[in-house]
Amino acid sequence: MSTTVGVLSYQGDFQQHIRRISELGVVARAVRTVEALAGIDALVIPGGESTTIGMLLERFGMMEPLRRRIADGMPVLGTCAGAILLADEIAGSSQPRIGGLHVSIRRNAYGRQVESFEADLRVTDGAAWPRWAEAPVHGVFIRAPVITSVGADVDTVLEFEDTPVLVRQNTLLAATFHPELTRDTRVHDYFLHSVAGL
Ligand code: GLN
Repeated sequence: MSTTVGVLSYQGDFQQHIRRISELGVVARAVRTVEALAGIDALVIPGGESTTIGMLLERFGMMEPLRRRIADGMPVLGTCAGAILLADEIAGSSQPRIGGLHVSIRRNAYGRQVESFEADLRVTDGAAWPRWAEAPVHGVFIRAPVITSVGADVDTVLEFEDTPVLVRQNTLLAATFHPELTRDTRVHDYFLHSVAGL
């Protein structure tokens, strides 16, 4: 059976994620329900509004099934709002979240650049994936959160001005920027092949 990557599709830019994954030759499918969750091998949680997506996850009865799949090892890529939803701690907020990623995160936190900005990202010394060296990854940040601390089991892969912007904890990958908005498919490629092993 072929591998299927689900993209959580309540709100936000899920279509762009489906497009990027398809460009890499992998089947991508919109996921909204527990039934659909059962049929996928990995999941992408897109950017958007984390409070809205969290509320809809609860309304669709998805929180516990999703946590169980993650605990069982299903790889997940969360971008921007998706990263917020994976974080164990969201500064000053008790909003619904999936959790499981050992980071603290602060929403809308890039100071004067709070609305949006773009920047080339730095590859950390420990990020041993040859494709990062091809060209700088250009990060598009939209009302982006800042990861303020990471647990001992979390590796920073890409940074911007000494803040982690792509982090990995075993099968969880979280980006505070929007890799689906550029033509560069390396973050999705890294997720599918290095993180998810698909
Ligand atoms: N600021 C949004 C939030 O808190 C995230 C922004 C985004 O996903 N582009 O959910």
